[in-house]
This record gives sequence, C-alpha cells and structure tokens, in this order.
Amino acid sequence: MHIQVKRYMYIVFFSPAIACLLAYLMLPVHKPTITGEHLLAGLDSVTRQLEQYKTREWKYIIIHHSATKTGNAAEFDKYHRETRRWKNGLGYHFVVGNGNGSGNGYIEIGDRWLQQQSGAHVGINNYNRYGIGICMVGNFNEHYPSRAQMASMVVLVQYLQKQCNISTENILLHKDCKTTDCPGKNFPFGHLFVQSL
Ligand SMILES: [Zn+2]
Repeated sequence: MHIQVKRYMYIVFFSPAIACLLAYLMLPVHKPTITGEHLLAGLDSVTRQLEQYKTREWKYIIIHHSATKTGNAAEFDKYHRETRRWKNGLGYHFVVGNGNGSGNGYIEIGDRWLQQQSGAHVGINNYNRYGIGICMVGNFNEHYPSRAQMASMVVLVQYLQKQCNISTENILLHKDCKTTDCPGKNFPFGHLFVQSL
C-alpha cells in the first residue's frame, strides 16, 4: 500500500501532462472572447451550464431588445468593441437569439457574465454595475419575440432570480431605467412570469 501511494504521488506531481491538466483545471474560468455558448431552453440544461460559474452581487435583471432583425453575441460584441470602443466588448451578459443569426431561443453567455464584470447596456452607472443585461434579438416595436425566445427568457430569468436573489420588482425593462423605447412596445413583460414550459 505504501509503495502504491508513493507511485501515485509521483505520477500526479511529476508527470508533466498531468501537472498541466491539473494546472488547467485550477485556472479560473476565463474566456477571452465571445464564445457563443449555446443553450437550448430548458431549466435543467441552463442551470447545469450556468452553475459552472461563480456569481457576485447583482441587484437587477434588465431586459433589452437589439432593435435589429438579426444578430448574435459575436455581432454585437464586434459592434460594441469596434464602433462603441468598449474594451470589454459585448455590453450584455446574455443574448437570446431569434433564429436569425443564432438559434431561435438559444441563450448565448457573454464574457462579462463569465468574468462577472459590470455591463454596458443601460447608460446609468448603478444599473450597469448591478444589473444583469439580457438582450433579445429582434425589434419589438415592429414584431413580437418568438415563443422560443420567451420560453428561454422565462427559464433564464427564473434561474438568475434564484441564483442571485433578485426580487421580481427588480426585473426591469431598459425603459424603466432610462428614457428609451427599449425593449419595444410589443415586449410582453407579463409573459415572463408564467410558469416555464
Ligand atoms: Zn436597451
């Protein structure tokens, strides 16, 4: 038994391959660019994926639309990085696709969530600092979110509320925080509180 233990210790601490693997596993979660991790709607799936990441203090969930017909996290990241000149890129923490640019109802996790950084989506410091920004692809002044998008939003919002201890009163639309029409006049706020599918 004694010899086996010693051999085991030797393998773990002196095998370069295993040492590298251990070092990798011990690194904090860090993804330098938008990864566009896709999650199908479904509380179990979303929860399993999101539970990999530690969360800091958040007070609000703030909902946006992209005001575009198409889009995804990578496109918005490029725009925020290159046009808006935000060094941390994508200002939202999550993007929910509509089938044009990414999957219908797919949730993409932005780097700011992976790294628990403040967002850049409201235009007001307190809300950017403590608000989890979720952008739904689409222009909801012109049409409605898809059923799949809303189903994903319900799941995501429920998860975030529970994980971050955010009260229902603090689930806000962008227009609740600032003068803007975001997320559009057709956004069905009440549907967020129906039981998820
Ligand atoms: Zn907005």
